[in-house]
Amino acid sequence: MTTFIVILGPPGVGKGTQAEILSKRTGLAHISSGDLFRENLKNQTELGKLAQTFMSRGELVPDDVTIGMIRERLGRPDCKIGAILDGFPRTPAQADALEQMLAEFNGRVDVVPFIIGDEDVLVDRLSARWTCRANGHIFNRKFNPPKETDKCDYDSSELYQRDDDKPETVKRRIQVYLDQTAQLISYYRHHGRLVEIDGMQTIEQVTHAMVIALKK
Ligand code: AMP
Repeated sequence: MTTFIVILGPPGVGKGTQAEILSKRTGLAHISSGDLFRENLKNQTELGKLAQTFMSRGELVPDDVTIGMIRERLGRPDCKIGAILDGFPRTPAQADALEQMLAEFNGRVDVVPFIIGDEDVLVDRLSARWTCRANGHIFNRKFNPPKETDKCDYDSSELYQRDDDKPETVKRRIQVYLDQTAQLISYYRHHGRLVEIDGMQTIEQVTHAMVIALKK
């Protein structure tokens, strides 16, 4: 049986952290569209160069480019039993494309945990977020610090601050989320798949709420 989970929520609410934990627990692949773009950027692919112009402004990469990238990713063997999607879809056109792609793989979106967070806290959280250079593991200087300063707990690689985690870009990303991605909440609610989760709890409490949501 395939299981596809879409995690919704504003930037900085903890989608990546939770997707990583759930992926380890369930064996489902973790697909982060932001990580895929950053990987392309690191490898200086054409896709990465194109995405960078949008990412550095906190804007969305065009739908056709993003959908093509996710289509290719969903076709890889580790998605055979399903996947946890983090950061995709972000627009109604992407959500429609996802339904079509999953139909091709005999799947559908089973559940959509929607992690809710307070805007001021999110800006604060993102400005303190540090990401690992090698594998994108996420830490937070205030709320979830690494054991050793500037070093990833999992692979010892260097931690860095993403350009788009700087305050001005963070505000733009939250605005883009409100303008474009928030529409998906009513889309999935209408289809009866949305489960609201309070993202202002501890990481462990949010995971617990996510696990309950997945069992439904
Ligand atoms: P994230 O790591 O999810 O915050 O994504 C970082 C940046 O990548 C976003 O601000 C966008 O520029 C781009 N991006 C990630 N996912 C998408 C998507 N589904 N659609 C368009 N752009 C995206």
